[in-house]
Amino acid sequence: DTVFTARALTKTYTSGEVPVHALRGLDLDVSAGEVVVLLGPSGSGKSTLLNIMGGLDHATSGRLFFRETELTAMDDRELTAYRRRHVGFVFQFYNLIPSLTAYENVAVVTEIAERPMRPDEALALVGLEGRMDHFPAQLSGGEQQRVAIARAIAKRPEVLLCDEPTGALDSKTGIRVIEALLSINAQLGTTTMIITHNASIQDVADRVLFFADGRISKVHKNETRRASA
Ligand code: ADP
Ligand code: ADP
Repeated sequence: DTVFTARALTKTYTSGEVPVHALRGLDLDVSAGEVVVLLGPSGSGKSTLLNIMGGLDHATSGRLFFRETELTAMDDRELTAYRRRHVGFVFQFYNLIPSLTAYENVAVVTEIAERPMRPDEALALVGLEGRMDHFPAQLSGGEQQRVAIARAIAKRPEVLLCDEPTGALDSKTGIRVIEALLSINAQLGTTTMIITHNASIQDVADRVLFFADGRISKVHKNETRRASA
């Protein structure tokens, strides 16, 4: 059951003086329910790939499929519809609305989704059932990120794309955030891709993709995770 198929995917940014080849012919298959970690030096193309998979940007050449649907054949309007329906994003910075409670921050999304969870259900999935009426300023960084995760999954997206979700957190708090992502994967089966430098995620992922210079240079497969999950 394959969710993403990328073939010879390239991305070249031409906005500057010299073209930047961010992806140089990338091949990848992602299965439903997988947890995939993307590792590699800054500038190796990880965010570019996630942005294209999430319908935030267009590839330059090659093909990318979401199930049977070719994302690389879509225009902006179609990509927006795809993104709203199927993709949840988690970024390094939480972008919560400061004047809204945790509950209300999640409710902003559930009001426009097709078959959303209730905000309290989503917050319970990340262990924040006791913090629903707190404002962002009353929450720790890790708790704020977990609200952002609840917001991302409340519309029940098939895929969750996380760009350095623990980048602003200390390692102990980061682990709680990772546990929340794994718990969601286990309970909802959400296919999850995570860009991270956090070593503890690598051990619990199904696969670790090592990026170098716009390509996947090495893959580490964790055969034991599914069996123990
Ligand atoms: P990271 O290493 O965490 O991916 P970067 O600093 O490379 O972060 O990029 C952060 C964001 O800024 C990226 O999502 C990317 O879209 C954008 N970005 C990165 N490099 C450039 C650039 N040279 N010009 C314009 N935007 C860029
Ligand atoms: P990573 O996530 O691995 O740090 P990125 O995908 O952010 O790498 O960046 C890959 C390359 O593309 C880098 O050289 C970066 O500066 C460049 N880049 C990323 N986004 C943009 C952009 N919007 N405009 C121009 N260059 C960009």
